[in-house]
Amino acid sequence: MAAPVSVDVLVIGSGASGLAAAVSAHRAGASVALAAKGSLQSCNSAKAQGGIQAAFGDDDSPEQHAEDVWKSSHETADRRLVEVLTGEAPGAIHWLEELGVQRLLQVGDRTGHAITAALRDAVEPSTVKTFTKSPLSSLEPTANGWRAHCGEHVIETGAVVLAAGGRCYREARERGELSTNHPGATGEVTQMALDLGAESRDLDALQYHPNGGAWPANMQGYSIPETTRAYGATLLNAEREEFTDPLGPRDEVSQAIFDEVSAGRGVETPDSRPAVYLDTTRIPEADADVSLPYMLRRYRAAGVDPLQEAILTYPVLHYQNGGLVIDDQGETTLEGVFACGEIAGGTHGRNRMMGNSLLECTVFGRRAGAAAAEKVRG
Ligand SMILES: Cc1cc2nc3c(=O)[nH]c(=O)nc-3n(C[C@H](O)[C@H](O)[C@H](O)COP(=O)(O)OP(=O)(O)OC[C@H]3O[C@@H](n4cnc5c(N)ncnc54)[C@H](O)[C@@H]3O)c2cc1C
Repeated sequence: MAAPVSVDVLVIGSGASGLAAAVSAHRAGASVALAAKGSLQSCNSAKAQGGIQAAFGDDDSPEQHAEDVWKSSHETADRRLVEVLTGEAPGAIHWLEELGVQRLLQVGDRTGHAITAALRDAVEPSTVKTFTKSPLSSLEPTANGWRAHCGEHVIETGAVVLAAGGRCYREARERGELSTNHPGATGEVTQMALDLGAESRDLDALQYHPNGGAWPANMQGYSIPETTRAYGATLLNAEREEFTDPLGPRDEVSQAIFDEVSAGRGVETPDSRPAVYLDTTRIPEADADVSLPYMLRRYRAAGVDPLQEAILTYPVLHYQNGGLVIDDQGETTLEGVFACGEIAGGTHGRNRMMGNSLLECTVFGRRAGAAAAEKVRG
């Protein structure tokens, strides 16, 4: 067992939300430690592709963005959290740009990689102590805050920021399904908080990504960027007929695919998994080169050219919509325990709109880190 460590703020998780919280708590003057289950790089955030939402155009506004989130959540989101999310979106994007993320809103199809790399570059040379391969295994209250066991480290802290992501990897394994998620997305930190008495909401609401890769085998669970459909790709059944609006909300498109396959109009992958076609041949090559370079590279390396032939797809478990209840500073119902990112609930209600997760990580990661520092240092 290593010597005990004592800090003002302990952050659990090295995804976008945890890194944003660590940067923010550090800038607020707190001593900070960050513990992650694996390497700092391993997280869902680094896999995020499509983009990050914010109202910038003349025809857009934070109010319109908030209305879209509210509708997408089927009117189940926490309106106060939504107002914070959309109101602070432009400022959060500028903050990321200031940290060095280029051309934000969409960086090719590797936006999450660009964001996490810039945040890591801010954390690594700073005085934030990082503990990799140090999974949180227990959390207990003390007279002055919390004591955490992270791998072989015992960390005494005034406040904790839980940023350990969702549980879709574990859930998919238990259901025998595929998931887009990283193997670290297993949900045990949420369970620890629940065992300590934290309140949660909408934990049963898991989101399917409508277009998981179904074949070739090495593309199974890959999340085919939704920009494919925005650029004209359509969903076709076994008869090569269109059966749904490809631009519909995630939950509706996923359900349409499930229904088409249950009605016997789907196709099977060579390893007998259900699928339908995504006709990506309709995407203009110039758009694909700019917005889908990573996807094209991966499929072509697997022997399939999406611009020449339709690809096989089926919905895969993607995102935990609900999570720990937080207030607008990211504090859970446990004093001194904050949560941000996918582990927290309320911002998306029961159905998240695409692009809002990286935004949530940034907006609420910053808030939770600053509020945790403030709580301890007064
Ligand atoms: C393939 C893919 C594409 C996506 N595309 C987009 C997109 O285009 N736009 C968008 O907004 N969102 C997208 N998302 C969703 C978004 O990326 C995630 O929801 C978000 O990044 C989650 O960030 P997070 O910081 O909450 O968690 P994560 O990034 O998952 O990080 C969780 C961290 O917690 C650590 N951890 C877990 N358990 C423990 C433990 N016991 N102890 C210590 N550490 C632990 C993990 O190791 C990891 O470091 C996508 C997700 C995936 C999987």
